Amino acid sequence: MTLKVAVTGASGRMGRFLIEAVQAVEGVELGAAIVRPGSSLLGADSGEMCGLGRNGLVLSSELDPSSFDVLIDFTSPEATLANVHFCAEHGKGIVIGTTGFTAEQKAYLDAAAEKTPLCIASNFSTGVNLVFSLLEIAAQVMGDEADIEIVEAHHRHKVDAPSGTALSMGEAIADTLGRDLEKVAVYGREGQTGARDRDTIGFATVRGGDVVGEHTAMFLCDGERVEVTHKASSRMAFARGAVRAAQWLHGRAPGKYSMRDVLEI
Ligand code: NAP
Repeated sequence: MTLKVAVTGASGRMGRFLIEAVQAVEGVELGAAIVRPGSSLLGADSGEMCGLGRNGLVLSSELDPSSFDVLIDFTSPEATLANVHFCAEHGKGIVIGTTGFTAEQKAYLDAAAEKTPLCIASNFSTGVNLVFSLLEIAAQVMGDEADIEIVEAHHRHKVDAPSGTALSMGEAIADTLGRDLEKVAVYGREGQTGARDRDTIGFATVRGGDVVGEHTAMFLCDGERVEVTHKASSRMAFARGAVRAAQWLHGRAPGKYSMRDVLEI
């Protein structure tokens, strides 16, 4: 049976790749492509907008539950919460790529997951999810004797920092070491910072140009250091992963799932 997928934020950087990825996968069909109310693109052909040629599906601003089985949402926290509410009301699964949620917004997502299946990941690429597992091994082997730092770089348009992926990397390491990331995270340093506390996990952020996404976790010991790096060169890596997650999510029981659940790692 064909899986019908709706894409919100369709005209965004990720939205366009998501439409392309949905159209490329056999057994998956684009059911709706949603843009902001009042968008100048309303009524335009969604395939043409992505430079893929006409697909006959016009951009709309209203979600219709009969048009899709699973929604893929890479928008903004406010828009995602509204879309999660819609999916929970209509019993539809939702794949969430948006980052930058507050603790309160995360609690809303947890509550919605009791009604409908959600798959949420700060990064839907297969490689980054493999990196999370590699970091758990590194933390297990070296974590207690290493100073741990995470450095990330993204394009100039990114609005949240550090990236959701960098925070997920920090969480994977902190959880393995039995530390609470909220207590041990240090976001940037300036001035008389004092000597480094071994238990902290440092984050540094670079913003500029068209960098799709680069992350390095460093385990710095006396005499040696290990670095685990992931570099994304195309947003298609995230889009393909999100479509794979949509296929996996369809028909699941309500709950909050991750990309690592999808990949079974
Ligand atoms: P973007 O180019 O700004 O696209 C966001 C889209 O969402 C735009 O089309 C925007 O519409 C729409 N939107 C935002 N707020 C809205 C609202 N209140 N109502 C309706 N539509 C709204 O951003 P992007 O680079 O695609 O990234 C989107 C999100 O995905 C970010 O949170 C980013 O960090 C995250 N991301 C996650 C992954 C992952 O693998 N999890 C990978 C890449 C990016 P307008 O253009 O009309 O404003």
